[in-house]
Amino acid sequence: MSHLSSQKAQLLDLVSGKGFTANQFLATSTDIGQSLLSESATCTTEQLERLTVADLEWLFQLYDDRCFHGLCRKLILEAGVELSFRCSRRMTRAGGKTTRRTWSRPRRGQARQEYEITISQFLLEDNFASHSRPISVCGYVCEHRLHALQRIMEHEIVHLIEMLLWDDSSCAARRFRGIASRWFQHREFNHQLITPREKAYVDHGVRPGSLVQFMYEGEPRTGVVNRISKRVTVLVPDPRGERYTDGRRYIKYYVPLASLKRVG
Ligand SMILES: [Zn+2]
Repeated sequence: MSHLSSQKAQLLDLVSGKGFTANQFLATSTDIGQSLLSESATCTTEQLERLTVADLEWLFQLYDDRCFHGLCRKLILEAGVELSFRCSRRMTRAGGKTTRRTWSRPRRGQARQEYEITISQFLLEDNFASHSRPISVCGYVCEHRLHALQRIMEHEIVHLIEMLLWDDSSCAARRFRGIASRWFQHREFNHQLITPREKAYVDHGVRPGSLVQFMYEGEPRTGVVNRISKRVTVLVPDPRGERYTDGRRYIKYYVPLASLKRVG
């Protein structure tokens, strides 16, 4: 057991406590959303025209101040660690991610830590077009990108708090679920944004294993869908290709979904 600093003890008390009532949370989160839009240099409406790292920083500070008396930032400062934010266009499955990196500082002989909260700009931008199915994040149906972003940030803040207080964090575990539901009224602990994988299936009937055809340098090619991300990875049998686990040789192509035709 290590010594508990007074700020750590305060945050521990706070997150173990009652949290917000449903009405308090609604008022607080609405206020936070409006503050974000009024401060943001690039987002003026709930559809978040262009989300930047500064927006994420500001959103985090609003939550930290309004919900946790700024204790997350105080603890980070006290521990001498860093917290940074990132908007990712490469995260195509999760809406957000909180990571901690530790590396040793050879000279001073102590470990250095850095936390990072990443939000998938790709998924936010790719969702909330007209005529899509209802989007639920953390058990809320979200009407627009701002709501989705807030739910994702709330989820990631709980991860950060757990890492600061207990080192480990898991949204599958009871402790996480308790904090997320007491403070943010979360009823689910994942997001249901529409991923490229779902879109591929709903709009084009394509999923991993589907036989597809596409044009490459004017020639039709036929192959099997291996992976679906922003582009689709298609394996085309070819004796010049690399050997795969099924013992056959394939060449790998990255094809935009719209250029694929399902043939089997
Ligand atoms: Zn999680």
